[in-house]
Parts: sequence; C-alpha cells; structure tokens
Amino acid sequence: MQNFLTIDRIEPQKRSQLERTKDYKEIYELLSKNDMKEQASRCIQCGDPFCHNKCPLHNLIPFWLRAVGGKYDIDLAFALSNETNPYPEITGRVCPQEKLCEGDCSLNDGHKAITIGAIEVAISENGIRNGLKPKFSQKKVGKSVVVIGSGPASIAAATYLLRAGVDVTMYEKQNRAGGLLTYGIPGFKIEKEIVARRIEWLKEAGMTLKTNIKIGEDVSFSELANLHNAVFLGIGAEQSNKANIVNENAKGTIMAIDFLRNIQKKQFKEDFDVSIDVANKNVAVIGGGDTAMDCLRTAVREGARSVTCLYRRDKFNMPGSKKEFKNALDEGVIFVYNVVPKDIIVNSEGGVIGINMQKTIMSNKTVEGRQSVETLKGGDFKVDADIVIFALGFSPSNPTFLSENGIEVNSRGAIVVDSEYHTSKSGVYAGGDCVRGAALVVNAAADGKAAALQILRDLSL
Ligand SMILES: Cc1cc2nc3c(=O)[nH]c(=O)nc-3n(C[C@H](O)[C@H](O)[C@H](O)COP(=O)(O)OP(=O)(O)OC[C@H]3O[C@@H](n4cnc5c(N)ncnc54)[C@H](O)[C@@H]3O)c2cc1C
Ligand code: SF4
Repeated sequence: MQNFLTIDRIEPQKRSQLERTKDYKEIYELLSKNDMKEQASRCIQCGDPFCHNKCPLHNLIPFWLRAVGGKYDIDLAFALSNETNPYPEITGRVCPQEKLCEGDCSLNDGHKAITIGAIEVAISENGIRNGLKPKFSQKKVGKSVVVIGSGPASIAAATYLLRAGVDVTMYEKQNRAGGLLTYGIPGFKIEKEIVARRIEWLKEAGMTLKTNIKIGEDVSFSELANLHNAVFLGIGAEQSNKANIVNENAKGTIMAIDFLRNIQKKQFKEDFDVSIDVANKNVAVIGGGDTAMDCLRTAVREGARSVTCLYRRDKFNMPGSKKEFKNALDEGVIFVYNVVPKDIIVNSEGGVIGINMQKTIMSNKTVEGRQSVETLKGGDFKVDADIVIFALGFSPSNPTFLSENGIEVNSRGAIVVDSEYHTSKSGVYAGGDCVRGAALVVNAAADGKAAALQILRDLSL
C-alpha cells in the first residue's frame, strides 16, 4: 500500500470515439485485475478518510481498497463494498466521482486521486465472475412493505428490507424496473443488463415485482397501503421543466426524457414512437447538465447530421460532470456557450427550422461568489435546427394520490419528510428525487437505504 509515489493514477481505457458512437455499449473498459490491484495500492489509508465522509453512502472505501491492493482478498472487498452500498457496480459507473469521493481524496494534493469508481466496479465484476453474490436473509420476519417505483431509491429500500427478512412487493408503472437507470441514463453510461441483474437478485431474494401498474390509477394507494406494514414512495421527479418560449411545443421539439426513453424503448425493441427520428437532422439541445450531455451523445449515435449544445452560462459554469462533457466533445458535439433561446422558428407547416437565440454574459461575482446570467442587448442570432431538445431539469410531478391520502408536498411538489424519512402520513416513507428534486443515483441510494433502516426500527425489527 501507499504506492502513490511510484504508481501514477490511471483511468480505465475508453473505446475509440469511432467505435463507441456506433452502439450503446459502455465506453469504459473494466480495469484489468493487475491495474485494479496497483491502483488500489496507491491508497495512503488516511485515519479520517475524506472519501468515505464525502460519499453519501459512507462507503468503506479505504477498507476495500486495502482488501484488493494488499494481499488481494476479493471476497472481503466484495462483501465490504456491498455492506454499505445497495449496488456498488452501478454507483461505480454513474457517480460523478470528481465531485464526490475522488474529489475529496487526499492524494489530490499533488498526486491525483485514487480511481475509486473504477475500482468499485472492478471489485464487483471480478467478484461476480468468481461466483460471488450479494447476501440476503434466508428467514422471513412476517412483515411486509410495499415499494412504489423501481428506481435507485426503491431498489435501495428493497435491498435493506430484504436483507432483514421483510417481504417486499415493488410496483412500477413502466414495462421494466430500474427507473431512470433503465429508461433515462443511456446504455453508454450503464448497460441495461447490469441494472436487470440487480433486479433479478432482489427477485431471487423473494421480492415480488409488479410492472405496468400505475399506483393511484390502476391500483388504489390506500387499498395497497392497508395490506402492508409500511409503504416506501420512490416515485422520482418526472415533470420536465419548460423554457416558456414561443413555439416550444412545435413539431420537432421534444423534452429530453421523452427523447431518451423513446430511444431506450427502441433498443429494448418495445413499442416506440417512430416519428422521433434525428437521423440526418440538425439537432440542438438546450441545457448544459448531465441530461443534456446524454441527449447530445444519443443524437450522435442516432446518426444526426450535426449536434449542438446551447448553454446559457460559460464553459466553466456547466453543471454536469466534466468527464461526460469531455466525452461529448470527443464524440463530435459542438458547444455554444453564453446563449439563451428567445423563440423557436417554424415553417408554414409549423415544423421547427431554427431557434432565435440571444447572447448572454456572466455578471461580476457577488461577495458570496455567485454569478448571474444577463442577456446582451443586440446580441441576437439564429441557429438552424430541425430538432430542438429541451434538457432544462426536472421537478417532482405531485400525483393526486398524495393529497388524497394526506401526504404533504411542498411548494415545488416534492414530498415532505422529516429527518427519519417519515411523510406526514403514518406508515408512509419517501426518498430519492420525489423528495429532493432531481439529484443523483447515489443520493437516492442513500435515501432508500436510510428509509428502510428507519422502517425496520419503527417495526421493532
Ligand atoms: C437523463 C438522465 C441522466 C442522469 N445521469 C445520471 C448520472 O450519470 N449519474 C447520477 O448519479 N445520476 C444521474 N441522473 C439522476 C438519477 O437518474 C436520479 O437522481 C435517480 O434515478 C433518482 O432515483 P429515484 O429512485 O428517486 O427516481 P427514478 O429513477 O425516477 O425512479 C422512479 C420510478 O418510479 C416510477 N413511478 C412513478 N410514479 C409511479 C406510480 N404512480 N406507480 C408506479 N410507479 C411509479 C417511475 O416510472 C420510475 O421508474 C440522471 C438523470 C437523468 C434524467
Ligand atoms: S458510491 Fe459514488 S461517491 Fe460513493 S464511493 Fe462509490 S463512486 Fe464514490
């Protein structure tokens, strides 16, 4: 261990730009066993590990790094990483590590952080190849919980309940489980087999999964709640934010999630909307976060003629992961900064032909260091586009069954919970994006886990 002076940080290999843009497979290769061991051996085993503190799941990072970086005990590393994390093979792939564990690694101080995310994935995949599987309770405790939604928050809640021997029934309105891991985040960031494998393990552990059922419409919430000892709500934040500009609903405009979900359905060979076709078109994506990057890179794979990102701030203030921005740039995306859309230009049939844009400038920093965006007078120009994708974030959708059942939401439509994940209705808990608003997979994982542990305490288990 502590080999950081002789071994440099390396990243997992990426497939070439030419090869990877032809398919939806993940772009990163798995670290080789030797690279995993060497990279883990760079860890200096801090007494107060900042990486562990910064990870929302408080993963036992230095311990599993020591387990593979020392005498290579993959069984121990696999067990430790699955102890605190409901799906390490998923977070290792999708977490923006530079803002989380790796961002706080002590080696950033001149030697570059440990490649924590890639090692987390390699521990899981090598362990699974060796026949390891996450462990669940064999005995049942005679209590049952219904989990509504099947995204990261719900998978995490189900995992910790099943580990304690509680019966779990999960309801999902889509065709497949996984939430945004399945129908949002594209396969080039996480292949869908990885998500399906986790769901299968939960089913093997006894979970009942019911898909294509929308709670509040197909099945009554109150009837369901009465059948179980507790309810966990992990229904996400599904409302796409609008631009509120003229012609934003014209033919050829589309919301980011509708675009990504449609392409994923096409990949799954499920029913999809054939009219959403960007091949040989000029595609403009408005927004600069992770969802925008996913739309841009998906449009590249769908054969768009040109793919342009239009973002209102400058490059340095883009909110998404720097890694994903770089990947988009390498895949041929054009970036235009400091611009906002004024209105969508349509032809005589009402179809999109372009966008009237306005240039912006960042204001001077306030004492708190904040900068706002100001439009520049006379800075108007036109961008040609056949397809405009809006990637402006998401808000909770506040379905009517919440108010009908006395479940309080705040002014943003997010479910209100106390510090122990209780909603205003006894026996009903919530977590993930439906509570926080759009956040990260690892935040949803932490919420689902903490809510499940609270349910266990409240049921005296
Ligand atoms: C395009 C995109 C890319 C992203 N990329 C990343 C990334 O790279 N890294 C990262 O950490 N985060 C990323 N995120 C954010 C991350 O996906 C979310 O924070 C996370 O999925 C939230 O988990 P959740 O379980 O709260 O909700 P969701 O994943 O939204 O799952 C909610 C589930 O509930 C179901 N549901 C809703 N209402 C009902 C009902 N009435 N009955 C039955 N089922 C219902 C929905 O169909 C859905 O499956 C991305 C988000 C998007 C949109
Ligand atoms: S879950 Fe995310 S933040 Fe935590 S150790 Fe893994 S990659 Fe880092």
